[in-house]
Amino acid sequence: MIKTLVLLGATGDLAGRFLLPALAALRAADRLPDDFRVVAAAREDLDDQAFQRTAAERLERHAPEVPAAARADLIRSVRYRRTELTDPASVGSLLSGVRQPVAVYLALPPGLYTAVVTALGSTGLPAGSRIALEKPFGEDLDSAMALNRLLDRVTHSAGEQAVFRVDHILGLPTVQNLLALRLANRVLEPVWNSRHIEQIDILWEEDLGLEGRAGYFDRSGTLRDVMQNHMLQVLSLIAMDLPTRLDEQALRDRKLDALCSVRPLRLDEAASRTRRARYTAGRLSDPAGGAGRAVPAYRDEDGVDAARGTETFAEIVLDLDSERWSGTRFLLRAGKALHRRRKQVTFRFRPAEHPSAHSAPANELRIGLDGPEDLALHLTGGVSLNPPSWAPVTLAAAPPAADLPAYGRVLLDVLSGGSTLSVRRDEAEAAWRVMTPVLAAWNAGLVPLEGYAAGSAGPP
Ligand code: NDP
Repeated sequence: MIKTLVLLGATGDLAGRFLLPALAALRAADRLPDDFRVVAAAREDLDDQAFQRTAAERLERHAPEVPAAARADLIRSVRYRRTELTDPASVGSLLSGVRQPVAVYLALPPGLYTAVVTALGSTGLPAGSRIALEKPFGEDLDSAMALNRLLDRVTHSAGEQAVFRVDHILGLPTVQNLLALRLANRVLEPVWNSRHIEQIDILWEEDLGLEGRAGYFDRSGTLRDVMQNHMLQVLSLIAMDLPTRLDEQALRDRKLDALCSVRPLRLDEAASRTRRARYTAGRLSDPAGGAGRAVPAYRDEDGVDAARGTETFAEIVLDLDSERWSGTRFLLRAGKALHRRRKQVTFRFRPAEHPSAHSAPANELRIGLDGPEDLALHLTGGVSLNPPSWAPVTLAAAPPAADLPAYGRVLLDVLSGGSTLSVRRDEAEAAWRVMTPVLAAWNAGLVPLEGYAAGSAGPP
């Protein structure tokens, strides 16, 4: 297991809210080596004590459930180095003296990846090291391919062993459960196809607006932020054929097949199959039932360049050319500042086949991915048959409990040399092949940018 994590962007939001808390959870679960250490780097001028104090405060806020002793233990293992990460000399000095393999985690704005990976290349990393990169991986197919080629050069073609493309939702128990449900339940696999399923909705709806993240989001937009990565990963797990083995190669081969079966949209289909929108001023709901919170229009948020026309909502309908799925619609819908938080997959079954049951509401299976939604199977029963009177029957269950946070699972995979939770090079490129034509249509102005009030259900 790699014993040193070099955390680039250690003062950022991801590091404070997710990565340090996940490391503390791993420490508490005794999943890290005793001599594990973190080398933290960012531009801010801090010494070890000042960074440790900030890190301790962030753990108190974002990982209160982790025992204080484990948090303190982790903090003691952290050292901070002020570094200009795009400057090879500065990166060289950060890594000077490093002899053992390290995991270098780029918790950085994606626009820096090329410069930082180049700087890592000119410094050189000990054999057996890994570079982990956050999503979004590239901003279109060409930039993702160029980044893959650069990583190949910098790691001397060490391949997937040396590169880890992070998509943390692969570490969520609910996402792991998508495949577990299919593998373990004989009642599901026979109906897991277009003969029985009419439409699959993959929803990624958030009830928060920009929350001060314009610097990242305004250059990215909803499609690049969550659709190209999280949502296509979910699609691939749903749509894939079951792998013969659960090893990282077989699993990712089948996911790749599913991604490659998505029919790329033609430019002339974009207007009827995609929508993009951004929120106008409105009021976000308060989950505690209060009056809610007023938010300005996206275009007026601090740091937003309104002329960029960045979307905060996107919807895409895709078809898959495969024996299993030809004839099923896959609807991807994601947005910020909506009236509720809902990250789930809904499987809408075709109507019952019996001639006397055509009026019965069709079945639905809902699988919550990250949020309040549980697992629910909506069936239809009846209390009298002549004439039929249908009654809903819902079987619901709480989602599986998590023993580790999603980022804990991802970091374990990064440190232990596993790749099951890493998005393979060809998967990342296949996902861009799906989304690049949509971006091209949007850039060509073929799909108007609609508006929706913050706190509403989205564009009308
Ligand atoms: P932030 O802007 O909050 O943090 C960026 C970090 O990078 C800061 O520590 C900043 O330090 C550092 N940094 C920026 N430029 C330089 C530089 N030239 N040299 C050294 N350090 C630099 O971003 P996030 O943490 O939100 O996001 C990081 C990555 O994680 C992105 O790729 C994002 O897509 C991904 N991600 C983020 C999530 C989140 O909820 N935040 C969730 C999932 C993924 P300094 O201030 O000192 O410059």
